[in-house]
Amino acid sequence: MLGIDLGATKVVSALVGSDGSIVRHGGRHVHSNNGPDEVIQALVRSGEACLEGSPTLRPVAVGVAVAAQVEPRTGMVLHAPNLGWRDVPLAQRVSEGLGGLPVVVINDARAATLAEWRFGAGKGVSDLFCMFLGTGVGGSAVVGGRLLEGGTHALGEVGHITVSVGGRKCHCPNRGCLEAYVGGWAIAERAQEAIRADPEAGAALVARAGSARDVTAQTVFQVCRTGDVLSARLVRETERFLADGAVSVANAFNPSLLVLGGGLVTGMPEFVPVVETAIRARCQPPAAMARVSFASFGENAPLVGAAEAARRSHWTKA
Ligand SMILES: [Zn+2]
Repeated sequence: MLGIDLGATKVVSALVGSDGSIVRHGGRHVHSNNGPDEVIQALVRSGEACLEGSPTLRPVAVGVAVAAQVEPRTGMVLHAPNLGWRDVPLAQRVSEGLGGLPVVVINDARAATLAEWRFGAGKGVSDLFCMFLGTGVGGSAVVGGRLLEGGTHALGEVGHITVSVGGRKCHCPNRGCLEAYVGGWAIAERAQEAIRADPEAGAALVARAGSARDVTAQTVFQVCRTGDVLSARLVRETERFLADGAVSVANAFNPSLLVLGGGLVTGMPEFVPVVETAIRARCQPPAAMARVSFASFGENAPLVGAAEAARRSHWTKA
């Protein structure tokens, strides 16, 4: 299967084996996020580049993961905020570009969860929840051995559960969302506010990033490891909001396993024991038994999961 991960500025493709292994990685192809035509062209080029080097390995289907609300039956992207898309028939357009191969489109958090469930940290587990902490905070649930979709294909958006009444403004219509505190963009925003309030305390962060404007979540994590007081405070605050969010998720979904993944967890692996401790201490007793673990796949999770979604769809139809 060919798995493709479509992000806000890049496309990554790989041929993926039926065991979830990467057979051939096609590398990164950047795009300028300049409307569906330009982005889909880049996506098709990325897929072709992956196939060109392997004439004997022709995929029977293609899976595309995208940060979007997706209608899985038709492969229509209903709404992709990062790309500025509404109602784009992505499966059809990609299929036309790749010689008529059948194409499945899947939300990226759902794809990453499928990868973790079939081949990764959640292999063999029938009730799990995956939380992904990157620029945004996404998630997806497997309950009773089924990957859940929701009424409008948006189930698992736990970045937008409220953790602070009337709190920080989120990128969604709400205030006080988990993402508005622990999303990468929010950690950067909180750090920059703290630097403005006390430039002396923020000196180490500014020195590392080059300027206050360039301070990111990863800058905060790196400078925290040098013993910087302001960075340590920001990380401790982030942990408290993350623990609140994870306790709510464990109570609501009752997973046997909570998988934490995404660039922020890679940058701050200490989040995993913090979340586990909070779940043990603060969840209702049945939910408190949930195990917590790192995601296995890292940044390849969405494309491995997209390929698996294509494989499942192909063999269901065959
Ligand atoms: Zn929100």
